[in-house]
Amino acid sequence: MSNTPKRYTITAALPYTNGPIHIGHLAGVYVPADIYARYLRMQGNDVAFVCGSDEHGVPITIKAKKEGVTPQDIVDKYDGVIRQSFKDFGVSFNNYSRTSAKVHHDTASAFFKKMYDDGKFIEETTQQLYDEKAGQFLADRFVTGTCPKCGNEEAYGDQCESCGTSLNATDLINPKSAITGEVPTLKETRHWFLPLDQYQEWLDEWIVKGHAHDWKSNVHGQVKSWLNDGLRARAVTRDLDWGIPVPVEGGDGKVLYVWFDAPIGYISSTKEWAEREGKDWEPYWKDENTKLVHFIGKDNIVFHCIIFPVMLKAHGDYILPENVPANEFLNLEGKKLSTSKNWAVWLHEYLEDFPNQQDVLRYVLTANAPEAKDNDFTWKDFQARNNNELVAVFGNFINRVVVLTNKYYSGILPEPNKYTKVDEQTIAELKAYPAVIASSIEKYRFREAQGELMNLARLGNKYLADEEPWKIIKTDEERVKTVMYVALQIASALATLSEPFLPFTSAKLQKMLNFTDTENKLSGGEYSQWDKIATRDSLLPAGHQINKAELLFSKIEDTQIQEQLDKLEATKTANAAKEKEVEPQKKTATFEDFTKMDLRVGTIIEAHKMPKTKKLMVIKVDTGLNQRTVVSGIAEHYKAEEIIGKKVTVLANLAPRKLRGVESEGMILMTENAAGKLVFVNPDEDGVEPGTTIN
Ligand SMILES: [Zn+2]
Repeated sequence: MSNTPKRYTITAALPYTNGPIHIGHLAGVYVPADIYARYLRMQGNDVAFVCGSDEHGVPITIKAKKEGVTPQDIVDKYDGVIRQSFKDFGVSFNNYSRTSAKVHHDTASAFFKKMYDDGKFIEETTQQLYDEKAGQFLADRFVTGTCPKCGNEEAYGDQCESCGTSLNATDLINPKSAITGEVPTLKETRHWFLPLDQYQEWLDEWIVKGHAHDWKSNVHGQVKSWLNDGLRARAVTRDLDWGIPVPVEGGDGKVLYVWFDAPIGYISSTKEWAEREGKDWEPYWKDENTKLVHFIGKDNIVFHCIIFPVMLKAHGDYILPENVPANEFLNLEGKKLSTSKNWAVWLHEYLEDFPNQQDVLRYVLTANAPEAKDNDFTWKDFQARNNNELVAVFGNFINRVVVLTNKYYSGILPEPNKYTKVDEQTIAELKAYPAVIASSIEKYRFREAQGELMNLARLGNKYLADEEPWKIIKTDEERVKTVMYVALQIASALATLSEPFLPFTSAKLQKMLNFTDTENKLSGGEYSQWDKIATRDSLLPAGHQINKAELLFSKIEDTQIQEQLDKLEATKTANAAKEKEVEPQKKTATFEDFTKMDLRVGTIIEAHKMPKTKKLMVIKVDTGLNQRTVVSGIAEHYKAEEIIGKKVTVLANLAPRKLRGVESEGMILMTENAAGKLVFVNPDEDGVEPGTTIN
């Protein structure tokens, strides 16, 4: 445990302001960041916990186009919704800003300008993807295509979300405009590039060698793998009209790339906060003794471990992050959370169904946190953790302590007698918890930390169950005084140590135990209460008056869980119906177009799954012309041995392309049956419906 207060700047990923937030966001970023920030404040540290709405970028423009409104309308709407959710769930930001704020435009512009003046960019005219029909350059999410690294067919123009690789739009195989669906052409345009390759060696020293042991292995491993592949220069400007104008000569009609401006939003948010509080913002970003920690999801690792640090380093005035504890993804009932498929538990909807039960969701999301690997949220588990842990252990213990103290002593703590061995051991165990929980939190192991908090509640519950004050009150009143006194010390420690994890419960419990009446003041007090648990003889003194019992948690019934499962079932049905809709007919193809395609019957003579991929199969086909290799994305649908000897239709003259280093010469035609399985083209195959496209 750290006893000398330090300065911390804690950032949580800026949410895209194109929709509300769901449990995946909370579990991946905001709850762990909040636990960390609250804990540090309780230790007496100087903490700036900042975030804000990310209001630039293509997703917002796309959403605005879809809804027929302006991007400003979209961000105004969702900034409000998102702010409210954070407030409702007790995420204790010191400041929540917006990247459309003037302070941010000024800060991001000045940042770019300084790097430009210092010659940190490369200015280059290159060929970029262009949508003739929309009259617009395509970058980032305006273009999708196949990832050259992993074969994911829905990679974006700046990143593949499947493998996390950062991409340039021109890297995509078979790019397609997200605006019109057209195949883009190439058009010349001038942009500023950040030469990441020049920082490769430095990043290798700083992260791969320097943070091999203190950064999470999922983060360290990702960075190492990208550095092994070699970094390339990346454009940091875009031909778009929504964003921060490029503040230098030749920048007309161009804006900063959203991932250039967004992380600077952390700095702007800190400035906004400092100004309001009458503080100096600079030490929080420029003093070497400040610890900068970025909380993010795994899809943001490249931006926070490579691009932003290179920007900070190139700019020269700023400190670098001490850690980037990124989480993996949370799934919902076994399926990937998806905003577009409405496969999510939205925070504002949760609160309608489970009013005032924010802490239950915080608890379950931390207990299941995807800290080292993707994890699953299920409603059954949610119910079980509430009923068997929060209600049966934590709530039950507190309720017994408070009710019995009121019943036996009118709520006044009794004077204890001499401790027995059991009492002494219980108190000794209690005093070990603050350090144990703190150590886990400081290692970013929030799941483990909360598990220890629950063990403390178990200690209390077991102590009462073993000592049975409600029985011995008839025979040994003096012994009951000691038992209740010890139990109240545990309750008091729980009230303090639960604050980072369960802030609403902690507040309620502090009120029940009448903390304000003692020197047991929490965060904001003169000393760190956390540490006092281990060093003080008593947390609540004899003679202290507590208040009446209130229920901390309530049982969640099967019917409530069934309602949630029914909701998800309805979403599934709606999605299936949407997917079944027959795709509209494509543009007319001339006979000449058709004759350009050389379709042949082939026989599969060899096949094997491509190593380290999920979908790709390397297939050798005898086309009659020759034996050739075709890479096909069917490995999740067929085993290699099943398809050898099959006759298939091959588009033989498709331009060859490389997938994961293997050249694919042609394409095997496939279609999808009603169950979503890819099958070889044979309209008689089970489940192949009229109207299904062949590709
Ligand atoms: Zn990929």
